[in-house]
Amino acid sequence: MIPSLREKCGVFGIFAPGEDAARLTFFGLHALQHRGQESAGIATSDGERLHLYADMGLVAQIFSERRLAGLAGHSAIGHTRYSTTGSSVQVNAQPLLLDGPDGPMAIAHNGNVVNAELLRADLVEHGVEFTTTTDTEVIAQMLAVSPGDSMDERFATVMRRVSGAYCLTILTRDAVYAVRDPLGIRPLCIGRLNGHGYVFASESCALDHLGAEFVREVEPGEVVRIDANGLTSSFPIGRGAGPQKLCLFEYIYFARPDSYLDGERIYPARMRMGAELSREHPVEADIVIGVPDSATAAAIGYAQASGIPYAEGLVKNRYVGRTFIQPDQRLREQGVQLKFNPLREILEGKRVVVVDDSIVRGTTTPRIIAMLRKAGVTEVHMRITSPPIQYPCFYGVDMATRAELIGAHNSVEQIRAHIDADSLGYLSLEGTVLATGVGEGRHCTACFSGQYLSEVPLELDKLVLEGESGRDRHSVPGAPRRIPVRV
Ligand code: AMP
Repeated sequence: MIPSLREKCGVFGIFAPGEDAARLTFFGLHALQHRGQESAGIATSDGERLHLYADMGLVAQIFSERRLAGLAGHSAIGHTRYSTTGSSVQVNAQPLLLDGPDGPMAIAHNGNVVNAELLRADLVEHGVEFTTTTDTEVIAQMLAVSPGDSMDERFATVMRRVSGAYCLTILTRDAVYAVRDPLGIRPLCIGRLNGHGYVFASESCALDHLGAEFVREVEPGEVVRIDANGLTSSFPIGRGAGPQKLCLFEYIYFARPDSYLDGERIYPARMRMGAELSREHPVEADIVIGVPDSATAAAIGYAQASGIPYAEGLVKNRYVGRTFIQPDQRLREQGVQLKFNPLREILEGKRVVVVDDSIVRGTTTPRIIAMLRKAGVTEVHMRITSPPIQYPCFYGVDMATRAELIGAHNSVEQIRAHIDADSLGYLSLEGTVLATGVGEGRHCTACFSGQYLSEVPLELDKLVLEGESGRDRHSVPGAPRRIPVRV
């Protein structure tokens, strides 16, 4: 297993009487595909039984008409996954289905639980048997076995004991829940569907595709329940004491540019990052290009603020997954070439400002620069719309070891030399936060600043929950799963 920085997940939930919930969840997950491309799953409730189908692969590959038809019901939850805790095997695909306190329960999770190992050991000691190696099951089992007369009391136990990031959608026979951790590290929002149903989604772009009206974000520490009587909200351990700490990297890279986070549309926020970058790191050049698609808005922002013309110098093959989402370093390296093609007619003889959102391991950038030089570029001025990533994330982006992060051990000048750029400029942390438009103190900046929101294990191994048997299972991908599961 090569430790690596990994994609986060997308969660979805819907309660819509009279609607085909599985189909709408399919569309919702399709809109959240950028948040995880390893596995996907949908669980539905027909009021009596829960139905589940989850598998490895992309949403559109997994769910055929026939599969969707087998998922009956007007309420559902869905998940797209890239592993942060638990390895990439089918048994870890979500939603997870288990016996809840009041009957069958399905759960989907985005985020990462920091103290999962400890909590799991505790639950095992109390006789709980685990079927997966995910931190999600730790939350689910805790919810199932926690004492309490109501779900709220059980959620209170979970919220008090679980440390880290979790946005959850939970399905029972008669309700759908959305839960956000008390710091609100990952995004989650609520939409109203044609006046007679509600949806939950990691990002607002999923609501738009369904024609759902954005209602609001789920607040940090909030549990929202939707059932036949409508929407109810509670804060099992009280309303947050301080401002939320939404992941800054969502603005920089993860979220789709057409989504809103904390009331701000991502696309203009990224344009402001580019503009800020041009003020912090001006340079004389002929054109500005962005590394598509994540840095396009920022490149336009840089061009507008600097007066240097914007151009498209790299064409991206949209059907190649994110370079990151590759099982090993060799494939990742080849991925850059498979993904981008330079336009010689635009680039030849030019001094080029190249805007990208981040340098993580330093795999992508030198390859892009070599590609541009080969296409006749005379000068490459690399501009990055985030500060150097120096610390691993424990809240949902799997940066397994600090050793991998090029920004953790090298100066900007050393990185410039490594990537072979004529100049390199990173956006300052202040500039990045300013560009989000939501003010200071509302973000988790741990991967840049090292200021974690909680105690974190120094080097969390994502296989930590698996023990030896888990590692064995990992070497036999596609462990059998009961599909579809009917309860
Ligand atoms: P690297 O090649 O390791 O330096 O990664 C940097 C490239 O990966 C940039 O082009 C980013 O757009 C992209 N990127 C940054 N963070 C992630 C992530 N967590 N998952 C997938 N891609 C990422």
